Amino acid sequence: MTKQQRMDHLENEIRQNDICPDLAAQAKHLVMGDGNLDADIVFIGEAPGEAEDIEGLPFIGKSGKLLNKMLGEVGLQRTDVYITNIVKYRPPDNRDPTVKEKAAFLPYLIEQLEIIDPRVIATLGRHSMEYFLPRVTIGDIHGQPQAITLGEAQNAKEVTLMPLYHPAAALFNGSLMQTLRDDFAKVPPLVTQQRTLLKRG
Ligand code: URA
Repeated sequence: MTKQQRMDHLENEIRQNDICPDLAAQAKHLVMGDGNLDADIVFIGEAPGEAEDIEGLPFIGKSGKLLNKMLGEVGLQRTDVYITNIVKYRPPDNRDPTVKEKAAFLPYLIEQLEIIDPRVIATLGRHSMEYFLPRVTIGDIHGQPQAITLGEAQNAKEVTLMPLYHPAAALFNGSLMQTLRDDFAKVPPLVTQQRTLLKRG
């Protein structure tokens, strides 16, 4: 199976397993992700908003425009990376996703990461960071790359996790804009560092 076929299969599984039926009933789209399935970097946000729900693509509203801008500033395009969310349906009125909703979608996010097999995972905001780094707060750890292990036993693989503020936080609180920009600039070099680490190992 190609990566695209595996991703399509995963999308069908979400529908067949009736994940978060209350969210699904109100959503126009199941928003799986966007970008390059061979990407070295995966960005993970929270959940689709109104624009994303209408179009079926992640990060295309106001936060998405800022994300595109920040990517551009570090020499990346959306087609160079993969972008997804922890929760794949829009929560009503853009409320925060619940613990239950995040837990329900988590296995599918993990499977997406297995399919893409990135070197670097950049979380956008605390909701996606929490799963990888449960006991930290974003204010303390943003912009500080962490080595994490994905998968288990023979399938275990070390990747670099970069916790970033959510673009919406920077839009809401302008004083975070430069911080987000500075943290973003640290992301592309992490790919090369991971390669060097792998070669040495
Ligand atoms: N915010 C998110 O976390 N994800 C989106 O796709 C859009 C806005």
